Amino acid sequence: MTTERLTTELEDILKAGDIIRRGGLVAFPTETVYGLGANALDAEAVRSVYAAKGRPSDNPMIVHIAETSELDPLIKGGLDGISEVTRKAMDAFWPGPLTIIFPKSDTVPYATTGGLDTVAIRMPSNRTAYMLIAAALRPVAAPSANISGRPSPTTAEDVLEDMDGRIDAVIMGEQCDVGIESTVLDLTGEVPTILRPGIITKEALTEALGMEVVYYNALLERPVAEADPESGVADTEFKPKSPGMKYRHYSPKARVRLIEGSAEEFAAKARELGLEAIRNGQRPAILDYEEDELTAAHDLFADLREFDRQGYDLILIRTLEQSGLGFSVMNRMLKSAGYDIVN
Ligand code: AMP
Ligand code: MG
Repeated sequence: MTTERLTTELEDILKAGDIIRRGGLVAFPTETVYGLGANALDAEAVRSVYAAKGRPSDNPMIVHIAETSELDPLIKGGLDGISEVTRKAMDAFWPGPLTIIFPKSDTVPYATTGGLDTVAIRMPSNRTAYMLIAAALRPVAAPSANISGRPSPTTAEDVLEDMDGRIDAVIMGEQCDVGIESTVLDLTGEVPTILRPGIITKEALTEALGMEVVYYNALLERPVAEADPESGVADTEFKPKSPGMKYRHYSPKARVRLIEGSAEEFAAKARELGLEAIRNGQRPAILDYEEDELTAAHDLFADLREFDRQGYDLILIRTLEQSGLGFSVMNRMLKSAGYDIVN
């Protein structure tokens, strides 16, 4: 299959909408990361997304909508059944990088939700994403547009690196503003629970909803890394609520290790481990975001991919403070490192 390169001009976006309506796959920019879009109501199209990504089929997808009215047929009880707290979350953060879990209606195929009775829905703020969903005239199921397990793509070039020849088209848009995936918020239970942390933080949600928002337990666990000496990747299986949590994630080809401490402590430890790597004939890369969480979120996946392109074997990253946005970026760093932290 030849993957068509499309621009962000209206004519091309209309073409992309046609491809999605016909059951095809189009990668497109959003404010978080690039998504791989398919008609969310077409189980066959959705299955081809799983195939293109090499993604386990029990890992549910986020359904993207352009207007609130599109929610009505997708969720149990329709718009009238939405709770007050859910309404608050939508009013405060849509359109934007917040995904909300709803009980699903029969309209949404189980293929889209990985067999779950709930559906994850988001209304992106990125203009190209909005236009594409509008042009598709359908809700668009879109996981990140990477091969499963790799760092999410934040540029069109990253998408092509993984998906060229596997999907119908890529909309060649700008680099993503946020750089990490949306916050996933579960409002189907008693307590609002963050299943995946993102740029919309626990603190911001607690404030907007006027009630305590918590992290799902597994996000606070730090599985002990028992790195496979061959791949350097730790086996971190644990029982997750959000099915996406259980798979290896965000991993470049290089081994990633995290180092805690001040700038000086990091530099010293990174030098020591870097020299050791060099003695073993490996190329080490060193990455310190200097406590700048926004830049870390924006650049992390792009940097991991760039180091891979340049052929590094080991990436040594300084950790961030685990609060606010730092918690969300650390969630990605920890997974990409297989929970391997040096301190
Ligand atoms: P991605 O599409 O790669 O951004 O990943 C989407 C993630 O959203 C999944 O890996 C899940 O963690 C989460 N998710 C999607 N749908 C649901 C759902 N119905 N219940 C819980 N988590 C979900
Ligand atoms: Mg993903």
